[in-house]
Amino acid sequence: MTNSPILSNSSMIALGCPYRYYRLFIEGYDEPDSDAATQGTILHAARAGYVSQLWRICKHRRKLGQELLRRSPTIFQRALATVMSKYKLTEYEQEQCEALGARFCEAFQLDTGADNHIVERRLYTTYRGYSVEGTPDHVAIYDGGRRAKVIDAKFGHVRVDFETAQHNRQLRLYAWIWFQNHPECQEIDIEIEAPRFGGMKDSHPGTVTRDTLSDVEERLDRKIAELEGCISTSSWLATPDGDACKYCTLHCPLTVSVIIRLLSRALTIHHPIKRRRK
Ligand code: SF4
Repeated sequence: MTNSPILSNSSMIALGCPYRYYRLFIEGYDEPDSDAATQGTILHAARAGYVSQLWRICKHRRKLGQELLRRSPTIFQRALATVMSKYKLTEYEQEQCEALGARFCEAFQLDTGADNHIVERRLYTTYRGYSVEGTPDHVAIYDGGRRAKVIDAKFGHVRVDFETAQHNRQLRLYAWIWFQNHPECQEIDIEIEAPRFGGMKDSHPGTVTRDTLSDVEERLDRKIAELEGCISTSSWLATPDGDACKYCTLHCPLTVSVIIRLLSRALTIHHPIKRRRK
């Protein structure tokens, strides 16, 4: 481990605007939660609890697998209720979580043929002296580790293209880290779950190998250069950036960035995320 800044998908997106990066990753400022972010956090936590529990039971009693899967909606509802009880939600917000959770549960099938399922485990490696980190929602392992599937659950409103999951930068970064840590792994399927848009049944995992992930290192090289440039000049200017502005809830020193953010939201048709006023 080093004391150098950590590179993750979110920190690299934030670096698109040095000011945003500085506030979040150097000053340690927490962005206020939005309703959509809270809903996503709840559903991710419920999913993680549910999958872990299903797998814990299935791996020891595989014969019970089918029976268990039949009862799994109840297990999910319990997991969701436990997570929701930790938040102050209005009745409407609760209903929204339950409705989306039900869609997830209807479409989700645990692959009981996998060797193992790992849920929300932080992965990290080092690259050019920097820690590179990521926490995939779910990794399924097959063939004694020679194959893996990296799954990302998306509960938001941004429409997902299931067919191009293997081009998703966040998931490619996770796959790259996985390859660094697992020399035995030959290929990784990348899959996106998005219950809001038809669930996982339409999902077609794309396969990546070590040789097809050179863009991940190119992105890391680019971001390291940007970061070192900011550090060496002590310059952290607010710089409107499509990706960084899209989710930014910082008090932005640039009025123009707000316009860009609004435009970016307007152009993303399925992105009606309401934000709480600070
Ligand atoms: S809204 Fe402002 S602070 Fe946020 S990413 Fe855009 S330019 Fe940077």
